[in-house]
Amino acid sequence: MKIKVTNPIVEMDGDEMARIIWKYIKKYFIYPYLDIKIIYFDLGLKNRNYTNDQVTIDAAKAIKKYNVGVKCATITPDKKRMKEFNLKKMWKSPNGTIRNIINGTIFREPIIINNFPKKIKNWKYPICIARHAYADQYDSVDFSIKNKGTLYLHFIPDNLNKNNEKKIQIHHFSSPGIAMGMYNTEKSIYNFALSCFNYSIYKKYSLFLSTKNTILKYYDGKYVDIFKKLYKSKFESKFKKLNIKYEHYLIDDMISKVIKSNGGFIWACKNYDGDVQSDCIAQGFGSLGMMTSILLTADGKTFESEAAHGTITRHYKKYKKGIITSTNPIALLFAWTKALKHRAYLDNNDDLRLFSEKIEKSCKTFVEEGNVTKDLLLSMNNLNINKYLDTESFIKDFKKFLEKKLKI
Ligand code: NAP
Ligand code: MG
Repeated sequence: MKIKVTNPIVEMDGDEMARIIWKYIKKYFIYPYLDIKIIYFDLGLKNRNYTNDQVTIDAAKAIKKYNVGVKCATITPDKKRMKEFNLKKMWKSPNGTIRNIINGTIFREPIIINNFPKKIKNWKYPICIARHAYADQYDSVDFSIKNKGTLYLHFIPDNLNKNNEKKIQIHHFSSPGIAMGMYNTEKSIYNFALSCFNYSIYKKYSLFLSTKNTILKYYDGKYVDIFKKLYKSKFESKFKKLNIKYEHYLIDDMISKVIKSNGGFIWACKNYDGDVQSDCIAQGFGSLGMMTSILLTADGKTFESEAAHGTITRHYKKYKKGIITSTNPIALLFAWTKALKHRAYLDNNDDLRLFSEKIEKSCKTFVEEGNVTKDLLLSMNNLNINKYLDTESFIKDFKKFLEKKLKI
């Protein structure tokens, strides 16, 4: 009998090789086991162009309404894609559009395979990066200075009250140089902190925030203050009950702590740090095909999951020519299981939670027993495995493996 899922899930289809794998996942792992209502949006580039990108906005609104979304990888168009798809406009990244409407924090986390050789041997548990995806360098102004002169930071209040005006000299240039101005808002930092604390509780993981507040006393100091105040007022007792902790570290200390650790925590990063560190963590753990990404709102309720990788264009080009590919479907599969787990969490649906956990656990065991795609084989190198499965065989063999596990 199929498991009854009481509330719907919003599904967003995507592009290229990820879209091909997506179809298999639904056919083999979702439809046969679940009695579920799926609210479907085709975010494939063709349809985004056809609907003038309205489909992305509608999908984001549906996620807000139903609280759970699962997204396939999509093409973010550039000049080359404009030509290839004969686009009306260079549509924005769907992820950016969805994030602006839902307003959450991005958490990236690797899927850990036990016997997988890791570049950092002591990393036993996932390190989950929370990136404050708002402002700082990504919404800054920068320019080069060619002449001698003085650079100021100047704030003019809307009400033109002279008492609140601030003009601070930054530097006097006696030779050419460069300059940058950036900002953030208390509201956005507060929501970031709230998402992080809520996700810590959901995952039962400790939370560490890194900043450079010794140098940026007001800027990074604000992050430290907001996190601390929120922790003390709303989360300390909940954290203590779960035996997890919240701590702030200087980013230099945090990096050495991360390298020495066994993993198993959430690392809250400022925008730029999160961008850079998540690539470092992904590499440290192995393959892009093993990295998942979720977007979670500050109240911990609205949730969207996806694979961290893209549409895997190089593999799709081969696939279209009829060449067999060996593309790793695991992160795309886990995007589904994570969305199902969140649905289960919101609806108190134990059967659904157990089913999703069973898929995840079985998939790890399946790989640990030596069933791998090419990317995994390449990063395993010294193990006794010397052959890899093609995309479809991996999925079909895993389906058989799962069937056996579900019967036990
Ligand atoms: P990509 O799709 O992540 O692929 C880059 C390379 O990483 C692949 O060519 C492949 O290497 C390897 N790889 C990634 N995922 C893999 C998997 N599941 N199994 C095996 N190998 C995997 O990045 P891209 O080629 O830079 O971008 C392609 C398109 O995806 C672009 O149009 C971009 O806009 C879009 N994109 C979307 C998202 C999103 O929707 N969240 C994110 C990133 C990029 P080899 O070729 O060496 O095997
Ligand atoms: Mg990056």
